Amino acid sequence: MTFVRKPYIAGNWKMNLDRSRALDLIKTIKGRLGDGSDREVAIFAPSVYLADVSAVAQGSPLGIGAQNFHFEDDGAFTGEISARMLREVGADRVLIGHSERRHIFREPNDWTGRKVRKALEEALLPVLCVGEKLEERQSNRTDRVLRRQLDAGLTDVKPDEMLRVTVAYEPVWAIGTGEVATPEQAAEVHAFIRKWIHNRMGGEAAQMARILYGGSVMPDNIRGLMQIEDVDGALVGGASLKADTFIPIIEFDQ
Ligand code: PEP
Repeated sequence: MTFVRKPYIAGNWKMNLDRSRALDLIKTIKGRLGDGSDREVAIFAPSVYLADVSAVAQGSPLGIGAQNFHFEDDGAFTGEISARMLREVGADRVLIGHSERRHIFREPNDWTGRKVRKALEEALLPVLCVGEKLEERQSNRTDRVLRRQLDAGLTDVKPDEMLRVTVAYEPVWAIGTGEVATPEQAAEVHAFIRKWIHNRMGGEAAQMARILYGGSVMPDNIRGLMQIEDVDGALVGGASLKADTFIPIIEFDQ
């Protein structure tokens, strides 16, 4: 039997918006969502707004997530937030290993696996972000980089857990640059990721797992991206900050 993967569109607000604009935007998105049966939509908001944002989203299928957390439960980790704390303020999912965490904040690759494991244990849906830098692509190291990131991030994941784990392919050179991966580039990498899951965890896990594309997704390119075989959704940065650009993305024609 073929497994049908529900399209998943997620907005990553990063360190943007203020409280009132954040709440207005959540209200607008909530008002435009259907019953959530044909697509899943989520917003990854700054942690300080999670409680308010999830209160506004309540009663709708809109998912609310954090952009990062620490894998320990508690302790002397100044400035950090645990998975359980995120659950307490209403988050149901979390980004892990976003390229800005990896490259600006120098988060080690092996932390991603500990975070994915902890997220699953605490009933948060993890979105593991992977992607190569421009120089890595130019020197034909894309596959090697992705393999290393997938090996680390999915190290402790069991095949049946891939229903709850999402992988987001975000080429670093496409994030916030206006430069989108070509359909061929996206198709090739998404197929590579699905094959990696297949080899490691089997065919069922590979069929269940959703793989999102991220990097300069806009209203005018979402449809083309969603037509690529192994693209199951999008992780949207800049265009998720305004209703005018995010609503047409979440309402793309299937
Ligand atoms: C992101 O940061 O996850 C992202 C994809 O950003 P943008 O859409 O702005 O390229």
